[in-house]
Amino acid sequence: MPLALFDLDNTLVDRQSVYGDAVATLCRRRTFGPEVEQWLLTELADRANLIDFARLRTAFDLEASAAELWQEYVTLTAAAVTCRPAVLKGLARLRAASWTIGIVTNGASDIQRAKLTATGLIDLVDGVAVSGDLEIRKPDRRLYELAASRCGVSLADGGWMIGDNPAGDIGGGHQAGLRTIWLASRPWPDGLTTASHVVDDVTDAINILLNETSE
Ligand SMILES: [Mg+2]
Repeated sequence: MPLALFDLDNTLVDRQSVYGDAVATLCRRRTFGPEVEQWLLTELADRANLIDFARLRTAFDLEASAAELWQEYVTLTAAAVTCRPAVLKGLARLRAASWTIGIVTNGASDIQRAKLTATGLIDLVDGVAVSGDLEIRKPDRRLYELAASRCGVSLADGGWMIGDNPAGDIGGGHQAGLRTIWLASRPWPDGLTTASHVVDDVTDAINILLNETSE
């Protein structure tokens, strides 16, 4: 069974709009001013973690604990995140075509798992590796190895990595011995091995994989 590993944020789900919604709601509920909202939008632009809320608390002398604010942010993120029906349907088609599907994602374990549950993605995949589980991040090959073993397969048998981050997803996938599909979202950086395929949307990537098995 061929292996397809997917990135989560800005590949299977749109993190960009979700984090903005979660920050806006958190600030409204807590009556935080625009300076707090702007700080969060800047600091959480690429990733969010408990430690960010500890820094926020110190920077603005807030009363609520970092753990309380982080938990609220996780809950709001889970409430806001969605996975498009076309993507869910595509993954179901891959499974029906005997693909093994894993997710390999950089992020805190609790928020990434909350997103996987809220979107229903968790029911469509065979294994998940979150960087926060081990403090090992993409492009580290060990996170790919963990994802494959949680899917019950070995990287030695090859497979595919699909993601939007040139270094983490495409560079990391390549180092892990996988073929790669890049969701083009930014200029390609100099010096990195290019992806096997470049697409605009993850559904195009899924169609490439489906064609592989039908050939
Ligand atoms: Mg991503």
